[in-house]
Amino acid sequence: MTVHLVGAGPGSADLLTRRAATLLAKAEVVVIDRLVDSSVRALINEAAEVIEVGKSPGQSSTQTLINEVLVSLGQRFNCVVRLKGGDPFVFGRGFEELEVLEAAGIAVDVVPGVSSAFSAPAAAGIPVTHRKLSRGIAVLTGTAADEEHLDFTCLARSGLTLVFLMGVERRGAIAAQLLLGGLSANTPVAAVMDAWTAKQCVVRGTLDELHDLKVHAPAVIVIGAVAALQSHELVGALAEVR
Ligand code: SAH
Repeated sequence: MTVHLVGAGPGSADLLTRRAATLLAKAEVVVIDRLVDSSVRALINEAAEVIEVGKSPGQSSTQTLINEVLVSLGQRFNCVVRLKGGDPFVFGRGFEELEVLEAAGIAVDVVPGVSSAFSAPAAAGIPVTHRKLSRGIAVLTGTAADEEHLDFTCLARSGLTLVFLMGVERRGAIAAQLLLGGLSANTPVAAVMDAWTAKQCVVRGTLDELHDLKVHAPAVIVIGAVAALQSHELVGALAEVR
């Protein structure tokens, strides 16, 4: 009668917490997201039932269905794992699922995961903070609905590293708003795609080029001086496109 909201990390199974791996080995049912890598799926015990609830971008209406599935499973099984990409509380609707489960009288446990917000930049050798270049970070969603709630002028003036998740489609609009807000056209940007998977790659440029950079989902877009940094000795080849 417990549903564990578990972070699957950004990709590679060895970036999973030990607690998450233990739960995958003993779960009776695993409800899994589209972005979860096959190396993580391989850790699920063979007897477990695996339910895919993959959402494509923009298909948020399926969330009601996911909530219903979780409640019904939570009522029938002792150990249910709800496996979500990255960290379950970073843009994952994790808390919405927690609320629905708790309202139905089901115990909920949260297991944090390594978020792509920090680990995707790290895959490209980009530190999201840097003592001389950036004293803080804003992690934001690039989806249209939430963008209306963002104060781009404030962000443009903040001096923070801006990290956009789900920003591929609207990267042109994001750049335009930040330019309008006063951020310099030559501010470095980087998009890290499929981080910590076999397909990972990065593309770099400047803010005024962001719209035209070849970026595909899933990607984390980093905007700010740190986006120009990279390690020349990074272990594990990372394809630099451009
Ligand atoms: N809870 C997740 C984020 C869910 S929103 C986390 O903490 O990472 C989904 C977005 O995460 C994607 O649109 C993309 O911006 C980002 N993302 C997830 N996995 C990624 C990966 N391996 N590489 C690059 N971006 C990724």
